[in-house]
Amino acid sequence: MILTYCYRIKPSAEQEVVMLHTLEWLRRHWNYALGQRLDWLRRTRCRIDRCSLVSEPIGDISERVTYYTQQSALKETKQLFPEYKTIWAEAQQVNLQRLNRAWERWLVPDRSGKRGGRPRFKKPGELRSFVYPRINCPKAGAHLKEGILKLSKIGGMRVILHRPLPNGFKLKTCTIVHKADGWYCCISMEDKTVPDPLPLDEVKSPIGVDVGLKEFLTTSMGETVPRQQTYRKAQRHLARQQQKLARQQKGSKNAEKQKNRIARVHQRLGRIRKDFHYNTAHHLVKNHDFIAVEDLNIKGLARTRLSKSVLDAAWGQFITILDAVAVKCGIRVVKVTPHGTSVDCSNCGAKVPKTLSIRLHQCHRCGLEMDRDENAALNILMRALNAVGLIVSACGGQENTQPLKQEAECWSGVQLSLF
Ligand SMILES: [Zn+2]
Repeated sequence: MILTYCYRIKPSAEQEVVMLHTLEWLRRHWNYALGQRLDWLRRTRCRIDRCSLVSEPIGDISERVTYYTQQSALKETKQLFPEYKTIWAEAQQVNLQRLNRAWERWLVPDRSGKRGGRPRFKKPGELRSFVYPRINCPKAGAHLKEGILKLSKIGGMRVILHRPLPNGFKLKTCTIVHKADGWYCCISMEDKTVPDPLPLDEVKSPIGVDVGLKEFLTTSMGETVPRQQTYRKAQRHLARQQQKLARQQKGSKNAEKQKNRIARVHQRLGRIRKDFHYNTAHHLVKNHDFIAVEDLNIKGLARTRLSKSVLDAAWGQFITILDAVAVKCGIRVVKVTPHGTSVDCSNCGAKVPKTLSIRLHQCHRCGLEMDRDENAALNILMRALNAVGLIVSACGGQENTQPLKQEAECWSGVQLSLF
């Protein structure tokens, strides 16, 4: 299990200058290294339908640019640009490793066949963090002891340890991050022992969770958590602040200050949302030992008219947080496909189509009447229990095979109507 704890650090004014300087030079190096890679790609590739007159490398074809060639060139860089001598060598290496990872994500598709976007050139101020890949070991660049963080080439500074480091973890890396409201050090640590998930036959209080816009979430027990609307509430305040920025002269000191003020509003909103997600996740994990959620296509939902509300709710972040909290406590979180969860009847499996405005689920076959979200949560729970092979008896008196059969029926019906 890898955890990351972030603490605020208090660098002196001189140290801050050095750190900003470090970020700037690393950014330039990133841009240079990315340019080198793109250049190599352009020189060695030719469209299949073009003759060689159109696309021909001029001069020698350079050697393939990889992480290793770039890393070994660091020595030369330091001779040409003595500024790089003032930056911890490992931080420079990690900078190149990050580029390498972005590069590979762009060129090599992952298991589902998706690729990342092309790595971008960074504008001034866009690189916001650098890494000391070792901490608290003899040759490390960073040492954290008794509330003082000592960074090579920068110096010692106070760390505000608002919570102690957990016991039994080995400290791995230290990332220095420049955020809107100051500097932070994020310490990642690892513990090889991960609590085993609770065995399936000991599951006592399983629960299905349906996330929505009317309520933030509804559980299969009928419990609801109201939505927050963090962004919507702050929208007018933000608009005012952005208006102020628009009236200021671009690039001026005051405009910079105003920009920072806006960034801090956004930061606060993000923090409020995250805190709410953590509290909700802990509440669920504390009271239940098996949680079923939908595997939502949030990118798709964010393209609809409801996008602002969808992104404000941030279900994706919530599910990631829920997953992490559950792993820590040894509880299973199962994701199921959301297809048709609000349409199917949780009691008999009949299809009850309804628009978003119909809040009540009324089954025409078995006469079941219940809240629409609760019905969906029950469906989600049933699907998850089916997926892990548990028989449902506690919720709705459903037999194990029934929904599957019903689904098969429906599918055949759909196919018949198609042909
Ligand atoms: Zn029914």
